Amino acid sequence: MKLTISTSDRRFSISGTEEQLKALFCKLVSNIIFDKTVTISQQISVADTQSALAVKNQSFGVKGFLFVRCPKCGHEYGFCSKSPITEAICKECGEKFLLTSKMTPVEFTCECGHSFKYLTNISDSEFDIPCLDCGTPNAVIFHKADNQYKDVRRIHNA
Ligand SMILES: [Zn+2]
Ligand SMILES: [Zn+2]
Repeated sequence: MKLTISTSDRRFSISGTEEQLKALFCKLVSNIIFDKTVTISQQISVADTQSALAVKNQSFGVKGFLFVRCPKCGHEYGFCSKSPITEAICKECGEKFLLTSKMTPVEFTCECGHSFKYLTNISDSEFDIPCLDCGTPNAVIFHKADNQYKDVRRIHNA
């Protein structure tokens, strides 16, 4: 298979397996999308918007405070990622699992007064999340209207 990029007087072509070329294509498109020096009108001419958005959703990772549950052993832990990541490695069993941009926001205020915002891959209707400061487990409940988890107090005050 071949991947070809061309303008009226320039042409770049590379051959490889379908998998390799797909990966390369996604990389190129996401580079173009996230290159702030390229203006919107240029972006649209290089990649059609739909596939560009698909790439954005697939390959753009998550960052910030994350609270994840290992799909293999069920171990739950929180950490902070400064740069976007697309997978995590379980601290307990070493399982490597995917993190998608569809992770659900969690907001809670612990009884110690500290507020936290996380993203989670957990999809239970409620679960406990320990306070990073004092270690108290805080029960959070999925709040459908806002599509996020909130602690019980927040839901009652809302
Ligand atoms: Zn695990
Ligand atoms: Zn606390």
